Amino acid sequence: MNNMRATPAMNDRTPLQTETTVPARACCRLCDTVLRHIFVDLGMSPLCESYVSDEQLNAMEPFYPLCVYVCENCFLVQLQQYVTPETIFSDYAYFSSYSDSWLRHVSNYVDTMVERFGYNDRSFVVELASNDGYLLQYFVKRGIPSLGIEPAANVADVAVQKGVPTLVKFFGVRTAREVASQGKQADLIIANNALAQVPDLNDFVGGMKILLRPRGVVTVEFPHLMRLMEENQFDTIYHEHFSYFSFLTAEKIFAAHGLTLFDVDEIPTHGGSLRIYARHAEEESIPVGKRVTELREREIAAGFTRIGHYRNFSEKVKETKRKLLDFLIQAKREGKSVAGYGAPGKGNTLLNYCGVRTDFLDYTVDRNVHKQGKFLPGTHIPIFHPDRIRETKPDYVLILPWNLKDEIRQQMAYVHEWGGKLVVPIPEVEILS
Ligand SMILES: [Zn+2]
Repeated sequence: MNNMRATPAMNDRTPLQTETTVPARACCRLCDTVLRHIFVDLGMSPLCESYVSDEQLNAMEPFYPLCVYVCENCFLVQLQQYVTPETIFSDYAYFSSYSDSWLRHVSNYVDTMVERFGYNDRSFVVELASNDGYLLQYFVKRGIPSLGIEPAANVADVAVQKGVPTLVKFFGVRTAREVASQGKQADLIIANNALAQVPDLNDFVGGMKILLRPRGVVTVEFPHLMRLMEENQFDTIYHEHFSYFSFLTAEKIFAAHGLTLFDVDEIPTHGGSLRIYARHAEEESIPVGKRVTELREREIAAGFTRIGHYRNFSEKVKETKRKLLDFLIQAKREGKSVAGYGAPGKGNTLLNYCGVRTDFLDYTVDRNVHKQGKFLPGTHIPIFHPDRIRETKPDYVLILPWNLKDEIRQQMAYVHEWGGKLVVPIPEVEILS
């Protein structure tokens, strides 16, 4: 077996590696400790947004390990980076403004922030990963000077058309210095669901420190690791999300860059998220609120400072897989038909991990016209228009975007007309009445 031992050439990049892969180096993205503990291993999986067209069906498809580690030193839960951010974001297909509920969420956020911190036409607001201007448009409407920083040129163009000034760049210390040197430090820096996709966390948060005015505020939203673990949301793990944060770990990252978390909101988005508020460590006139201490204590009590707590998660995930397969095998033995609803990224993690293909799930449907006519990555389950469900009358409809369960339950109530049933896979298989 020793003939696979590294030759001098294999110590460097082998000829097979392309610019989209990085050599395996299992060290913590935050503190550089060697990663020795697996949080959960979801096997090999394709990139969850790489939907397959008809012509690509017979071509090779790249799969990457979806193995998540936890750092024993700082407890950052993380994936190694297999694909460069340039590959993911240069022509990004995700436009935030497509979701009405998300727009309502950020419009409320803008109202709350203006009321709480009194921003006006002399303030300056910067959003990192500002996408298509979905959020900053509400500041612009109020006449509050704003700047978006967004690496994907195609979505940034849409923002500019809306009247949201946008810089097409990756954010980090360098970009922060460039903007700050023009006398443009920010009263408010916003980063929503961006932190998970940042390969160099120290550079990103270090940039915030430079860009922030003395009495300025940073707000950052990210899915809460505590909720991911409690509610078994392992399917929200994708290659594109490199890091998963507890409040404690987020606090450590910000503290390392001279930023103190002084408040936190627990919000329902993405299955349960946190919105943290940071200020310069020196600005002690802004006191640290009760909610910070309360959440910190709750996480410590739940075990987030003990490696064993993280290592237990794996077994829960395996049990979920067994339960989903039990249900599907039973349904098939009884001669029942099963279709899917939705083609979200999380569905792809779930189906690839569980090995569910057209042998169990005949097809899925999605309202997004760009996905219709394509196939799910890896599993090659075809995606149709939602009308297909009415036409084929399946016995079960498996709801893949379980976070929208209530909304979909209402929309799909008509499956009862032929005795069909709706099923959710997470936190565990449940047949909805
Ligand atoms: Zn670490």
